[in-house]
Formats: sequence, C-alpha cells, structure tokens
Amino acid sequence: MKSNRIFNFNPGPAALPVAVLEEIQQNFLDFKGSGMSITEISHRSQQFEDVINDAMARTMRLLNLDDRFDVLFLQGGASMQFAMIPMNFLAGDRTADYIDTGTWSAKAIKEARIQGKNIKVVASSEDKNYAYIPRNIKFNQDAVFVHLTSNNTIKGTAWSQFPDTNGIPIVSDMSSDIMSKPIDTGKFGLIYAGAQKNVGPAGVCLVVVRRDMLDRIPETVPTMLRYNTYATKNSLYNTPPCFAIYTVHLVLKWLEETVGGLDEMAKLNHKKASLLYDFMDTGGFYRPTAEADSRSLMNITFRLPTAELEQKFVQEALKNGLGGLKGHRSVGGCRASIYNAVTLEAVEALLDFMKNFENKNG
Ligand SMILES: *Cc1c(COP(=O)(O)O)cnc(C)c1O
Repeated sequence: MKSNRIFNFNPGPAALPVAVLEEIQQNFLDFKGSGMSITEISHRSQQFEDVINDAMARTMRLLNLDDRFDVLFLQGGASMQFAMIPMNFLAGDRTADYIDTGTWSAKAIKEARIQGKNIKVVASSEDKNYAYIPRNIKFNQDAVFVHLTSNNTIKGTAWSQFPDTNGIPIVSDMSSDIMSKPIDTGKFGLIYAGAQKNVGPAGVCLVVVRRDMLDRIPETVPTMLRYNTYATKNSLYNTPPCFAIYTVHLVLKWLEETVGGLDEMAKLNHKKASLLYDFMDTGGFYRPTAEADSRSLMNITFRLPTAELEQKFVQEALKNGLGGLKGHRSVGGCRASIYNAVTLEAVEALLDFMKNFENKNG
C-alpha cells in the first residue's frame, strides 16, 4: 500500500493491482527500449503485436479455453455488446431467451427490442427488487442463445451456478466478475466484459466467442459492428485502444504469475466476501440486500438502519481512507466492490471500520 493511496472500493472504473500501476509507471516513457511510450507506438509495430497476442494467449489460458474460441478486443464498452449481440446473431426470425436480473440485463433486453428482434424474457427477479437469481427456468428450444448477466454489479447478486440450458449456448455479460473464478466455458457461446471492473481500465471490452457463432451474421451489419471483422483481423482492423489493451495484458500477467491463476483468485475472493457477509449476518446493524444463495462475491450491497446513517457511513469511511462505498444512485444504500485487485488487507480495514462505526452509532 502506497502511503497516499486509499483503499478503493469503487464499482468501476475500479482498483487495479498496485504492481501493475507501478509497472506502467516504470515503462511509461520508454517502452521496451523503443524510446517511445506505449501510447506513442504504432499498433502495427511488433512491440504492440506482442502485447495484444500475449493478452489473448493469457485470456485463453486463464479461462481454459479450447481452440474453438477467439478472444477479441472491442470498443464501446459492454453497452455496445447489448446492441451487437442481437445484430449479429438474430438475423431474420431467429429468436433468443433473455434472463432479467437487474439494470444491466434490462439494458441488454432493451437493445434487442429496439432492433425489433423477437426475443423472450424467460425469467425475471423484478418481483423482489432483483434480490435473487431465478431458478428452474424453462428455455425455448428454438432460442439461438440464452443471455444472462453473471454478476449484477448494482443489485449485488450473482449466478453461483449457470442454468442448464439443454445445450443452448449461453451469452453472458461478465463485466463485473470475469476472471474472478474458473468457469465451465463449454456452456458459453459468447462472453463479454467491459474491462474497467475486473481486468483493466475503461476503453476496451474483452469478448470471447465460439467461432461457430459467427456463421450467419447478416451482410447488412456494418463492418465495425461485425464480430467477424475482429476475429479475422486479430482485433487490429483499425486502431485499437492500445493503452487499455496493454494494461489488460499486465493485469492478466499479474493474475497468472503473481496470483497463480483463477483457482487461487477464487479462494481469495471467497475469503474476502465471507469476511463481510459473515460479519453482517451475525449482527443486524448492516443488512445485505441480496438473498443468501444469490450473493455476489464482487459487489457487496448492504443497508444500514437509516439513509442518514448510510450517508454518514460513506463520508466517515472516506475520511478513514476507504473510498467508493456509496450504493448505485438507482438503489441507494452502500456497496463495497471487492474485485480481484482489492486486497485482503483492504477488506480487513473495511471490516474494522464497520465494527467501529456500529459501536459508535448502533
Ligand atoms: C458496468 C457494467 C456495464 C456497462 O459497461 P460499459 O463498459 O460502461 O458499457 C454492463 N454490464 C455490467 C454487468 C456492468 O457491471
């Protein structure tokens, strides 16, 4: 922990590993002896090609992907994917199933409907203010994919197990939990993640796609909005967000070489989340908002007895070097986002603060 840095619980853009920030700083003026910054070199240079290829190879290894998958880097954030997915995969009268678990899934549904696509919302947890993950869902056998949000950043819920879709490929928004734990990638047709939560800075969206999904993309889809364009050109059809990709590559290197892979990362993430949930469950002053079997390990959402106390909590936390604990403006309350780069030390500091705050105000 650097002396003047705070413990950062921001939901996104979010904390990055300090070691990664230091590596960027050390190499910023002269990248690999080029005499130029990574922000100044050509995206067609060998140096940059090594960076993007390394980021792709590490993604393949970390997620244990086989050679049916391609790794792509796009711009436009996860929000662009909401539009691109139906645009590419739902030509003509093809249909897909969507699961509604909160703000981000609702936006994905909206973008499919804007395009007049015939999609079906097969389950929703709106009835209980999105505090849970729906179970026992019946899927339509003619659906070409099932769309779900693996971790609901705002409502603090997550899929602990993905549904049995009877072989229909899952398309998942993993913006806020990609690389937080190993996943069974065999179930997925496409995974996408805005980098700024768990794998890098804003400006790039990581996409993993199973190549057979790329058949039947309508000819009318513009070049920059077609997945094929990125898949066939190694994500270098036009100038990519070089600096963001470079940072993602360093974060993935940190995950592999310092953390030791996703099994190790998952153990640490479980430990961090359990510290907070176990403490809140035994008290009563802090109330987690998600149902116990649907809780996110990344975004811990909770309430205090009153809105005034919540405001005081967020303000005093910041004075004590703990930032970003305010809940999303649409839901209120408090939220601790404890992504991969948020250390155990940070979570322990938060826990201490929570105990002290309760003693003084409970
Ligand atoms: C933050 C977030 C988004 C939006 O990402 P952008 O990159 O800003 O478009 C979408 N989905 C989830 C789950 C998110 O957490």
